[in-house]
Amino acid sequence: MNNIKNLEKSPLEYAKTYSLIARVLAMREELDVDVDEETNEIETPTIKCMSLVESDRRIVKLKRVTSDEPVSPVKRSKQEHSSELRVQKRSVLDVFDSHFHLDRATTRISCDPTTITIERWLGEQMERPPVVPVNIKGGLLIFCDPETYPETVPFDLKWKVAIRLHPKKIYEASPQSVDIFFEYVTNSRVSAVGKVGLDSSMNPGRANLDRQEQFLKEITEWIRPTMPLILHIRSNREDLYSKNLYYRALQIFKHHCHPDNFFFILHCFTSDKETITSWLSKSRNTYFGFTHIITRFNQQQIQALRYIPVNRLLAETDAPYMPPRGIRKNTPIYVGEVVEKLATLRYVDLKTMALATLENAQRIFV
Ligand SMILES: [Zn+2]
Repeated sequence: MNNIKNLEKSPLEYAKTYSLIARVLAMREELDVDVDEETNEIETPTIKCMSLVESDRRIVKLKRVTSDEPVSPVKRSKQEHSSELRVQKRSVLDVFDSHFHLDRATTRISCDPTTITIERWLGEQMERPPVVPVNIKGGLLIFCDPETYPETVPFDLKWKVAIRLHPKKIYEASPQSVDIFFEYVTNSRVSAVGKVGLDSSMNPGRANLDRQEQFLKEITEWIRPTMPLILHIRSNREDLYSKNLYYRALQIFKHHCHPDNFFFILHCFTSDKETITSWLSKSRNTYFGFTHIITRFNQQQIQALRYIPVNRLLAETDAPYMPPRGIRKNTPIYVGEVVEKLATLRYVDLKTMALATLENAQRIFV
């Protein structure tokens, strides 16, 4: 396995230059989107041209101060830079999708959640090719409902299995469903549990949250310490960044287990720096999963994202849900675009970020 540290030893200047290239690439891809997600207005070609020229100038400026080569900055901005982008686009990244739903995708394709294989799903015609071509080295399949958990969990080096009981469904889950869930939690071939967690986005009733909290406490008694717990924390609008619920979840684990002994994955993370520091201070084994929602982050969320250690980052698609902008059906094929956005926002090159998220996933999903 490659060593991330070796890659991080590249000269600072190179990293800065490369990250700017990645940012320009991301900007160009974003500008290629016809419809603005916030306003639903079509962007004008004039704005596109102006933005790209601006970006090229920034690259030129950086080259002047970091390169010893006597190159003409103007020529480099138009020709060499665009060829670098093409090379970056052509290279295929090894990636891991740390969260997707084969059963839900299958239901959309065939109405039967058990008939479609991952390979067939990945081979389905896409709405558009991925902007970042990927070689999917593995992924974590989330099985959503106890009624459709796989009868036998196969041992597979590439595709790992997680089982979930969504917090919104705990309140109405039958005792049989809960029994099936805990039976699978003890299955040694299940790699992770979740998503489970706390969700008050649709259910303001206090009783439901109490039941959700009770269920989390029960899980701590069943789960083996090496088994990652994938947490879905989603609050209502009054609780900005779901900070309250993240805090409540952390308190549960503090009082019912030793958080440092467990692996937590904060799935589809959208919260702030305070949440990150409180979780990392209580559990050094906290990981943070990011989906395509990352493209809509505000400055506070972006600043928070930069605070997370690189060895705690995971890339997720949550396919078939949460598609990238401009398409309707998400698949793990698009996970490279999440990795690219992570790289851009953290000022590191794309390959380094792909390798980091791949190694992080392979380390914890065994
Ligand atoms: Zn999901």
